[in-house]
This record gives sequence, C-alpha cells and structure tokens, in this order.
Amino acid sequence: MIDFSEYSPKKPEVYAYKCPECGTLDYPAPMICKNCSARRDPSGEIFSAWEKVLLGGRCKLLGWTRVYALPEGYDEKYLVFGIVEFKNGLRASGRLLMDNPRTGMELETKIGIVREKVGEDVYGFMFDLPKK
Ligand SMILES: [Zn+2]
Repeated sequence: MIDFSEYSPKKPEVYAYKCPECGTLDYPAPMICKNCSARRDPSGEIFSAWEKVLLGGRCKLLGWTRVYALPEGYDEKYLVFGIVEFKNGLRASGRLLMDNPRTGMELETKIGIVREKVGEDVYGFMFDLPKK
C-alpha cells in the first residue's frame, strides 16, 4: 500500500520515526538509525517500514535563545528559539511564541509554517504557553 500522506501539502502534523530494529525514536526522520545503523527506506519496500509517531502535546523547555541575525524576509527584530523535550524523551527545536520563556517551563506544541518557499509551505514546531 502506498502512503500518500507525506505528499499532502496541507497536513499540519509532524512525526518522529521509530526504528523497526531497535525501537529508537528519531526526529527529524533519519536515513540511518543513529543507534543501530538500520536503514530507513521511505518506500518500505526494501527494508521494513519505520513506524511514524505523532509528535505534539505538552513538552518541557530545556533551553532557549534569541536569534537576531534573521534571514531576509523576516519583519521581526528577533525570533525566540527553544529546545524542548517531549514526554517520550524525544527532543526537538522550534520557535517559541512568547517573549520571556523560562527554562524548565511546560509548553504546548503547535504546528505552524516555519519556512515558506514559493509554492511550498514547510510545517514545523512552534511552542506556546499551555492553555489554562
Ligand atoms: Zn535502530
């Protein structure tokens, strides 16, 4: 069966991939498992398919920084980026949507457009304060 979901241009979800050999979770999707070197075959035809694990929900802020040197095309003076840890132990980086984050605070994952090319939106992580 062919999975067309990866080609859907408007699917605001981000997945980690689980190695079928050793169970290591990785994000972004690697071509080779960093733990056991098993190969990921996006077609699932030659090597066994890697299970997709939906990332999101609550996470913990491990560290953050302000980035002032922004690429052309940004109107903001700076952006705030952070590294978070999900409940399953995976870490990811993304944009923080608050001005004064604190290391260790709990955040809520959002998926948003993080990069726009002509005719191509790339979805990635943003993190915001959890809803009360
Ligand atoms: Zn592995």
